[in-house]
Amino acid sequence: MSDLSDFSKTLPQLETVDVESIPSGIEPGSSSARMKFGEAVPRKKNIPKGLWTKCGKCAELIYDKDLDENLKTCPSCGYHFPIAARVRLASLVDEKSFTEMDAGMSSVDVLNFTGVASYPSKLKRYQKSTGENDAVITGLCKMGPHKIALGVMDFSFLGGSMGSVVGEKLTRLIEVGTKEKLPVIIISTSGGARMYEGMFSLMQMAKTCGALAYHSEAGLPYISVLTHPTTAGVMASYASVGDLILAEPGAMIGFAGPRVIKDTTQAELPPGFQTTEFLLDRGMIDAIVTRNQMRESLINYLNYLTAGMTKPKAKRTPRKKAS
Ligand SMILES: [Zn+2]
Repeated sequence: MSDLSDFSKTLPQLETVDVESIPSGIEPGSSSARMKFGEAVPRKKNIPKGLWTKCGKCAELIYDKDLDENLKTCPSCGYHFPIAARVRLASLVDEKSFTEMDAGMSSVDVLNFTGVASYPSKLKRYQKSTGENDAVITGLCKMGPHKIALGVMDFSFLGGSMGSVVGEKLTRLIEVGTKEKLPVIIISTSGGARMYEGMFSLMQMAKTCGALAYHSEAGLPYISVLTHPTTAGVMASYASVGDLILAEPGAMIGFAGPRVIKDTTQAELPPGFQTTEFLLDRGMIDAIVTRNQMRESLINYLNYLTAGMTKPKAKRTPRKKAS
């Protein structure tokens, strides 16, 4: 079970910058960053508020429109900002090809959970702020020549936590994928199991993996895409059992958070611990793919993974020529 507040602290914020409030020399020891900010000072009066975003890595100021056009990645250093699930989805699938499944499904407060606020009031708040009913969007779509079953998680809905709805929606998606002989792709971002649903959320780990096992037995490919951050119960279940595991650069990927591991093991953690790059070196993931390259790469990988697979309809086509 995860402490969601922990992960939201490590999530780089999509910070809208009030240019007038930027002090010079934000990055200690980085003279180039100081120069850029210094240079920006004289024209600050002409820059309307809320149109620029400061890169969380290189501290470059990016025009919001450019950031959106670049799929929320920094044009200077390639830093990947958080992106809404719907925007990501639109960047991956063929236009107008997405048929959403179970869009109206939302959680029930089975445990009558009340912390600082009640679970139903939290759900309502996040439903309002994100426009989604829960932390995953699922459906069938076309991606180039491939029809696929696709699930995209949204970290902005309660830390992308996996409760009964996330588990059920993904399980139904995978089951439809198995029935219709489709590859499954799940784009994960999550702080883990949803504490408000206790063991009901933990059960989703077994349920999703069970469905994936049947999908695998049917000889169908499953690609798991990890984005920042993918942790805890989600990483310990469906996110880590892909036939192919891809990840966005710089993403935090792991089970327990680094602070917990450090406290438990009483050992210094190696540099880059729990990042995409660290895990690629150690064979935990198969490839790092940038957001701008994701659609093209997924289509290429699907070309390999589905090569030789019999298309369901092709089987039934009667032969025309007997000669
Ligand atoms: Zn940058």
